[in-house]
Amino acid sequence: MKCKVCGAESGKYPLCRECCRKKEAGEIIKCPLCQRRHYADTPCPDARENPAEHARGGIRNER
Ligand SMILES: [Zn+2]
Ligand SMILES: [Zn+2]
Repeated sequence: MKCKVCGAESGKYPLCRECCRKKEAGEIIKCPLCQRRHYADTPCPDARENPAEHARGGIRNER
């Protein structure tokens, strides 16, 4: 699999080791709207790419 946050190869996990560690440290959070994980110090990437869809609950949760 590829890490959902940084795109690095992460074996059988959705997050790579580094991002897993950051998640534990609170540096990676889950977006409350679309559930996508992203760095805590940056806005959700989906919100930037498609604000309208994101406001309705996220691009990947259609309906
Ligand atoms: Zn990663
Ligand atoms: Zn989001």
